[in-house]
Amino acid sequence: MNKERFNRVTDELIRSLQEVVGNANVLTEKFDLEPYSHDETEDFVFYPEVTVKPVSTAEVSEILKLCNEHTIPVTTRGGGTGLSGGALPVYGGVILSTERMNKIIEIDRENFMATVQPGLITYALHQAVEAEGLFYPVDPASKESCTIGGNVAECAGGPRAVKYGVTRDYVFGLTCVLADGQIFKTGGKLLKNVTGYNLTQLIVGSEGTLCVVTEIILKLIPLTQHKRTMLAPFDSLSDAAKALTDIFNSKIVPRAAEFIEQRAIKAAEEKLGKPFPHSDRAALLLFEIDGNRADLLDEQAENIGEICLAHNAVDVFVADSKEKQEELWQMRRNIGEAVKSIAIYKEEDTVVPRSRLPELVEKIASISKKYGILTISYGHAGDGNIHVNIIKKDISDSDWDNKLPHVIEELFREVVILGGSISGEHGIGWVQKNYLPLALSHVEIELIRKIKEVFDPKGILNPGKIFPDS
Ligand SMILES: Cc1cc2nc3c(=O)[nH]c(=O)nc-3n(C[C@H](O)[C@H](O)[C@H](O)COP(=O)(O)OP(=O)(O)OC[C@H]3O[C@@H](n4cnc5c(N)ncnc54)[C@H](O)[C@@H]3O)c2cc1C
Repeated sequence: MNKERFNRVTDELIRSLQEVVGNANVLTEKFDLEPYSHDETEDFVFYPEVTVKPVSTAEVSEILKLCNEHTIPVTTRGGGTGLSGGALPVYGGVILSTERMNKIIEIDRENFMATVQPGLITYALHQAVEAEGLFYPVDPASKESCTIGGNVAECAGGPRAVKYGVTRDYVFGLTCVLADGQIFKTGGKLLKNVTGYNLTQLIVGSEGTLCVVTEIILKLIPLTQHKRTMLAPFDSLSDAAKALTDIFNSKIVPRAAEFIEQRAIKAAEEKLGKPFPHSDRAALLLFEIDGNRADLLDEQAENIGEICLAHNAVDVFVADSKEKQEELWQMRRNIGEAVKSIAIYKEEDTVVPRSRLPELVEKIASISKKYGILTISYGHAGDGNIHVNIIKKDISDSDWDNKLPHVIEELFREVVILGGSISGEHGIGWVQKNYLPLALSHVEIELIRKIKEVFDPKGILNPGKIFPDS
C-alpha cells in the first residue's frame, strides 16, 4: 500500500476528533507532535499530522470510524520504545496514543488473571501483581517505559522468556477495534478454549496492523519465593555459548540466561559511570534461577558454576544480596542504550534454536571480520535470541552504505540456515520488512497479506509495516 492512496488530515477531521476526545487530547502543533515522531529505532523521525489520546474503547472506535471513512493512516502508539519502527507514522496521518488508557481494570485472585488497558506500563503491572503474591513474568528490559499494549503487539519477550515464555503465553483474551470501528472480544479467562480460530494469538505480534487492542486479559502465576543471580566471565565467546548449551543439557532451566560480549559491558560501564565485575573478559553469562526451595536453588547454582568452570569460565560470581542482584540487572538493562550511544548503528534481533547458538556466535564473528565492520552482540542467549548491533565506527559513510545491506543479508541468511528467524521479539516493523522474504515463504507472505486485507480492507492501520515494499 503506497503513501499516495491516503488522504491528508483536514481541519474538519480535526474538529471531529476533538468532539470525540476533547480539544486537550488532540495535538496538532509541531512542538507537541515531536515526542510522537520517533520511537527507539535508530534515528528515524516521521511526524504525524495529528496525535489523538482516547481514554476508552468507545472513543477508539469513533476515531477509527472517522479515519477509515476519510482513508487516513492510523499508527497506534504505546510507550514508543519499539526497536523495529512499529510506532513510526511513516505515512503521516494520525497517531493514536494509548497513554491515557493505562488502568488495571481487575486483578482476579481466584482465577489468576489480570485485565488491563493497553497503555499500562509493564512494570506497573509487575508491582501490582507481586504485591498480591502473583507474578507476570514477561519483563522486557524496557519494562519501566513500555506498555502492555505494545508488548502484545510485538509479542515482547525479555530475559525471563527462557523459563516462562513470552507475551503470547500470557494473553488469554482481548478487546479490539477493527479499522472500521467495529468492536470485538476474543478469548476470556479460560485456560482451555477451542472455539473457532484463535484470533487472540493471531493478534498477538501483529504489530498494530490488524486492529487496535483496547483491553487485555493476562494470565498470572504464583510468585516464587527465592532466586539466585550469578555471573560467569569467559575468555572465549564460543566457550560461553557452549557452557550455556551444557547447562540446559543438565536439565536446569534458569529463569534468565543472558549473553553479553565485552564491548557491550564496556559501553554500559561508561554509560553508568561505574565498573562491572570482570568487564575485561571476552563474554559474560548472567544467570538467574528461581524456585520455592532455597536448598535446591543452591544445588542448582553450584551445578551451573561447575559447568561454567568446565568450559573455562574464569570465575563464577554469585550476587548474594538484593542490591548486588539489582546492580547486575541494572547494568544489563542499560546495555541497549549504551551500545547505541557509541555511534550510528543498526540492531538485528536474530533468533536461532538454542543449540545452534555457538554456531551463530561464530558466524557473527566471521561476518564482522569479512566486512571489516564492528558488531556488538548481547541478548537472551537462553532462548537463542541474540541482538546483533552493527556499529558504524571508524568506517566512511560510503563504506557503511555499501557494506551494511550485505552484512545484514548475510547475517539473516546464516540465521535462517541455522533454523532461525530474523526477529525474536522486536518485530519486523519498518526496518526489517524488506528482509521478510528471507524468513517467510511466498505462500506465507500471501496468507498474511490476505489476513491483513480481511481485518483492514483500506489498509489504514499502521501502513508501511511488515510487508516488503515491492
Ligand atoms: C532499552 C530497551 C530495551 C528493550 N528490551 C526489550 C526486551 O528485553 N524484550 C523485548 O521484547 N523488547 C525489548 N525492547 C523493545 C520494546 O520495548 C518492545 O517492543 C515493547 O513491546 C514495545 O512496547 P511499547 O509500548 O513501547 O510499544 P510502541 O513502541 O509504542 O509500539 C510498538 C508496536 O506496537 C503497536 N501497538 C502499541 N500499542 C498497541 C495497541 N494497543 N494496539 C495495537 N497495536 C499497538 C504499535 O503500533 C507498534 O507497531 C526494548 C527496547 C528498548 C528501548
